[in-house]
Amino acid sequence: MAKNIQSVRGMHDILPSQSSTWQYLEATIRSLFNSYGYHELRTPIIEPTELFSRGIGEITDIVEKEMYTFSDRNGDSLSMRPEGTASCVRAGIQHGLLHNQQQRIWYTGPMFRHERPQKGRYRQFYQAGLETYGVATPDIDAEVIAIGARLWKQLGLKNIQLQLNTLGSDKARQTYRKVLIDYFSAHQDLLDDDSKRRLHKNPLRILDSKNTDLKEIIESAPTLMDYLDNESKEHFDGVKVRLDSLKIDYYINPRLVRGIDYYNRTVFEWVTEELGAQGTVCAGGRYDGLVKQLGGRHTPACGFGIGLERLILLMEAQAIHTPSQRPHIYLIMAGETAQIAGIKLAESLRDNHDTLKLQSNVSAGSFKAQIKRADKSGAEYAFILGESEVSENNITIKPLRSEKEQITISQEQLNDYIKKNILKD
Ligand code: ATP
Ligand code: MG
Repeated sequence: MAKNIQSVRGMHDILPSQSSTWQYLEATIRSLFNSYGYHELRTPIIEPTELFSRGIGEITDIVEKEMYTFSDRNGDSLSMRPEGTASCVRAGIQHGLLHNQQQRIWYTGPMFRHERPQKGRYRQFYQAGLETYGVATPDIDAEVIAIGARLWKQLGLKNIQLQLNTLGSDKARQTYRKVLIDYFSAHQDLLDDDSKRRLHKNPLRILDSKNTDLKEIIESAPTLMDYLDNESKEHFDGVKVRLDSLKIDYYINPRLVRGIDYYNRTVFEWVTEELGAQGTVCAGGRYDGLVKQLGGRHTPACGFGIGLERLILLMEAQAIHTPSQRPHIYLIMAGETAQIAGIKLAESLRDNHDTLKLQSNVSAGSFKAQIKRADKSGAEYAFILGESEVSENNITIKPLRSEKEQITISQEQLNDYIKKNILKD
């Protein structure tokens, strides 16, 4: 026998039994983002590698060890996108969407990172994110955070904490960089290889290390707050005042630096304790320097990305109920004549009721077999069309999920019956 082929490690199928939760989550996100005036941007999954090495930063986990990079047939270096922000900026510059204007954009789709697969961490995973361009004031930081808070509320999710920090201006970070290099140099023997290598190139990255052995030394490190410039301090106050007025709780985490180089000023993460080590369900912040860094004119920017698998895991952990996709009706047809009448009846019901979910029996089968399939489909009702029903222009309605009696009514009354009893809401 031929060998079964398995999916690539860390890359998963979303099965039909899981997809209704996914569709519900995606639909909720889409309508929420649209309702705040954000518009969807769809970009290619593959981009020039340089977009990410320049955008995300050479000395980051993503660019150093996580990207799926390969050469195109003409030798160009291409990469599967590991995140969405760089592509949004690339597209924004390319199509002239950013200069001298405000934009609110959202995206969703698969991202690719070669990481060690574990619960909540995959090599192909889905993100939904939004990005804003052209707004330097803290009102947009607050809006972006409020959208996250509203999403958790709409989904019914609890216990997601907002962690907040500011990375200040480039200048403040330059000063802080030196302070950090001095601090970590004095404790070199406690650093791991990655951190030693990054010590002089990108010491802020050490603060973002996932190595628990470094926990103590990171926690005792000086914080950027002490080197913050006045404008950034005011901006941060502006964000906090708005969150306070919205009654959105936050926890100031002075060690939150994020794993990507492009951030400045506001950074935040939405974190839960219910998913083990992979507790960040949403992360983002301000990245005023990226557009220029990628060749555009200076454009303030702010956004976030949500890890959809982690949200799904959290929805499962918190037993969030999602609307059912089960059919209202399963149509049973006994005999060839009834099958031909039935296919016509089914289409006419669909013509009359846009929201009706009707599943027809196919490939015949005994009455008993069809009832079994009706039950398995999850349908609320079986509609039964036998020879006598066809000849008398009737239909038999058998409730499958209640003790109600089975009834036979004339097909003329059927549209009315469906409206009143089946699509009642
Ligand atoms: P982490 O610290 O968990 O590695 P990150 O800082 O690398 O996350 P971002 O690049 O900010 O993550 O991506 C935004 C969100 O995307 C994360 O908060 C997380 O929810 C999700 N995410 C990131 N990497 C993965 C992955 N490999 N598998 C599943 N979800 C992921
Ligand atoms: Mg990561």
